[in-house]
Amino acid sequence: MCRARALLLWKAWIKVGRLVMKFGGTSVADVERIRNVARHVAREVDAGHQVAVVVSAMSGTTDRLVGWVNEAAATGGSNLAKLDWREYDSVVASGEQITSGLLAIVLQAMGYKARSWAGWQVPMKTSDAHGSARILEVECDQMIANFEQGEVAVMAGFQGISEDSRITTLGRGGSDTSAVALAAALDARCDIYTDVDGVYTTDPRIEPKARKASRISYEEMLELASLGAKVLQTRSVELAMVYKVPLQVRSSFESPDSPNQNGEDGSGPGTLVCDEENIVEQQVVSGIAYSRDEAKISVRRVKDKPGVSAAIFGPLAAANVSVDMIVQNVSADGETANITFTVANKDIDRAIAVLEDAKKDIGFAEIEASPGVAKISVIGIGMRSHAGVASRMFKTLADKSINIQAITTSEIKISVLIDEAYTELAVRALHSAYGLDKA
Ligand code: ADP
Ligand code: ASP
Ligand code: MG
Repeated sequence: MCRARALLLWKAWIKVGRLVMKFGGTSVADVERIRNVARHVAREVDAGHQVAVVVSAMSGTTDRLVGWVNEAAATGGSNLAKLDWREYDSVVASGEQITSGLLAIVLQAMGYKARSWAGWQVPMKTSDAHGSARILEVECDQMIANFEQGEVAVMAGFQGISEDSRITTLGRGGSDTSAVALAAALDARCDIYTDVDGVYTTDPRIEPKARKASRISYEEMLELASLGAKVLQTRSVELAMVYKVPLQVRSSFESPDSPNQNGEDGSGPGTLVCDEENIVEQQVVSGIAYSRDEAKISVRRVKDKPGVSAAIFGPLAAANVSVDMIVQNVSADGETANITFTVANKDIDRAIAVLEDAKKDIGFAEIEASPGVAKISVIGIGMRSHAGVASRMFKTLADKSINIQAITTSEIKISVLIDEAYTELAVRALHSAYGLDKA
């Protein structure tokens, strides 16, 4: 085929190719909002796209379902450590089934062909790590065949099916990952519709001066997401990066009549997550993230000798407790040390139980646990080539009398652990210290 014709066909494909549109909980919070979502979908179908929609549960639904599971596990005389996570998944996956059916009904009422798909019907095959399963394979031949009949696919996000045919879920916020995985399998672009109109320099809910990025690199987005910016689930960014899925974050609350300009040049109404080389203006620091989901554990007065760290972190790893920041300091007697580290809040009880079990091998005096800490992170690809980012962070926090309890760094981020009470103050101070509030 001649090059010019191939280019023409490619451009035509980009214009009217396949599109995955994902709508989060607030965007489908009630039937009126689902109607609004349907109008966004109709716009893209009318433009000639083959559309697969991925929906979350109505906002608040998954929290309610998780609450019921906790309640049921407690009244049954068991506790969460003994919970059967296959049943947890069976319950919490149900919210997405409701919204996928409702959207299909609304689309049908508007005169469009539409069909709902549960994870097992696609099938969206996952590992059997219930509660945080990983997608292994998406078989979408039937969905593609139905596209050819002019049908819109409405898939329940967040859920899949394990090898032994049980319903699985992908971890909180997992519908983003369902959408990107489906887009990768369909060779489609992916638009994530949410309650903000893009990715901001920090969470616009705690810093109103935050600015929207028109583009952000996959690497920076990955750090932002994994360090707490919940606008995209971390795994969804990883998948988009690996499979080169063009990803856009935009708002479902803009008028459905305004066209989605995400065209060949990638321009659009939201934020485009793309390769680093497609970003013309590089910032040294591109964003600030925070996470309140942290707990600090100090193991006090362990012998200062080889093998102690292995005795602590080996059993934690074996129990699947992820450890983030680690600090060791010599205690007052000069012969023993204190080892402090952070884990996710949800893992705190399990971590303490593991350490108590291993007390004889570790040999410590006491364990102290405090959930009231937050991790604040400064992220930017430009850090690779610019000095002084860390010192500015430390000085800014010192000026506000905020004490730093632990520090970690990577090539493109610096994270510190602080008292949770200062989260907002720290985020705002750092946002302004790096000039992120200025255009
Ligand atoms: P959805 O229900 O659509 O999946 P989420 O609540 O998971 O939406 O994610 C959107 C939220 O992410 C926003 O309301 C915002 O408060 C938060 N957020 C945190 N950090 C950022 C950021 N850097 N840019 C945009 N939104 C952010
Ligand atoms: N409903 C799920 C949750 O609340 C998945 C999602 O919204 O992405 O975590
Ligand atoms: Mg989300």
